Amino acid sequence: MSVVGGGMVGASLAAALIGSGVRLLLIEAVPFGASTQASFDERNTALGNASRRIFEGLGVWETLAGEAAPIRAIHVSDAGRFGSARLVAEEQGIDALGYVVPNRRIGAALWGRLERAADLLLRVPGQVEGVAIEAGGVRFDVASGAEREAVTARLVVAADGAHSQIRSAAGIEAAVEDYEQVAVVANVASDAPQGGIAYERFTPAGPLAVLPLAERLLSVIWACRRDDAARVLALDDANWLAELQARFGWRAGRFVRAGRRASYPLKLTRAASPVATRTVLIGNAAQALHPVAGQGFNLGLRDAAMLAEVIAASAGDPGAPALLERFAAWRARDRSGVTRFTDGLVRLFGDERFGVGLLRNLGLLLFDLTPPAKSALARVSLGFGGPVPRLARGLPVRDA
Ligand SMILES: Cc1cc2nc3c(=O)[nH]c(=O)nc-3n(C[C@H](O)[C@H](O)[C@H](O)COP(=O)(O)OP(=O)(O)OC[C@H]3O[C@@H](n4cnc5c(N)ncnc54)[C@H](O)[C@@H]3O)c2cc1C
Repeated sequence: MSVVGGGMVGASLAAALIGSGVRLLLIEAVPFGASTQASFDERNTALGNASRRIFEGLGVWETLAGEAAPIRAIHVSDAGRFGSARLVAEEQGIDALGYVVPNRRIGAALWGRLERAADLLLRVPGQVEGVAIEAGGVRFDVASGAEREAVTARLVVAADGAHSQIRSAAGIEAAVEDYEQVAVVANVASDAPQGGIAYERFTPAGPLAVLPLAERLLSVIWACRRDDAARVLALDDANWLAELQARFGWRAGRFVRAGRRASYPLKLTRAASPVATRTVLIGNAAQALHPVAGQGFNLGLRDAAMLAEVIAASAGDPGAPALLERFAAWRARDRSGVTRFTDGLVRLFGDERFGVGLLRNLGLLLFDLTPPAKSALARVSLGFGGPVPRLARGLPVRDA
């Protein structure tokens, strides 16, 4: 089988299949560590506990643990209104609600594992051309520099991101909804210790997430309106910090220094189906979400874990229609649940109609007072239903 795209999700799938006996070719256009590598860039990713368990199963968590900042509590608020909610790990009987890890560290851990694996074929940098998908298999060429190689595979996995070339070649439609927001991302130093609290603050211009990275270092994801993004990006550090402070408030101390800013236009992209003839889409190729709830990679990692499990359990053809249908059915509830949850948050908190603000603040207050609602949210990290991948339950991809 071939996996196109060795970003966060494609590299995770390849790592999950090491030692499974599956012959796997991984093609990635941009080497890990190159400045143009867009998956393992300057961002930080909030990993849920299920993702931590999957990474433990892939043998990469031990490399990441020292870099992972635990989230001990999550504080959700609506700017200028009374409602707020707090979710505390200890109250849920767990050590952390999740962990914040720099994407580059995740890339180093995953690619370190892939490069040491004797049973993987890697083509990096590799460009896929001339994809032909038929009932019996998939054919394409891989161009690496001056070299060109003809490939045939019984399954092609599209892990090539939101603008997936493989998704188009397979004729799978994708619905794209533009949020008309841009995420401006940077690391920010504070003068106060953070105590592992992650903040989600909904403002009229868009949500603002402030995640703990180290004792006095924060990861900021500031979603602003698209028509305001150029101005926000052009601010000098002092003015940017002042505006961030005005929007966020003082709960995380005084923001004293800002790192380099990067920006990401925000859209919801949903493939009509995650499978087609001899093709599976995982991660952003299947669904690319707003980062408001930090769910996109966590969801994509569960795609990868479940696909690895289904393939490892089948001794035969990894692209057999029945196998692909089983994968799609098992992932359906989680995919649609997380997508609706994330999209719903953006729309609910972006709605300024009279009464909606009041309602959501009552919602936050009720949420804060209702332990079962909080426990349900704490379980978001396991997915929104359907079978939970073995790796996420702390089991190997298949029994020995
Ligand atoms: C600002 C921001 C913050 C986020 N924070 C979080 C968070 O805290 N938690 C969370 O769970 N999610 C988060 N996400 C979402 C997360 O980043 C994505 O879900 C994740 O990157 C998806 O990984 P992917 O491998 O599917 O796709 P990508 O990251 O897009 O990787 C695709 C890979 O495929 C390669 N590629 C593309 N085309 C080809 C081709 N034709 N041939 C070969 N290779 C190709 C690319 O070079 C790249 O390496 C965030 C997103 C944003 C924008």
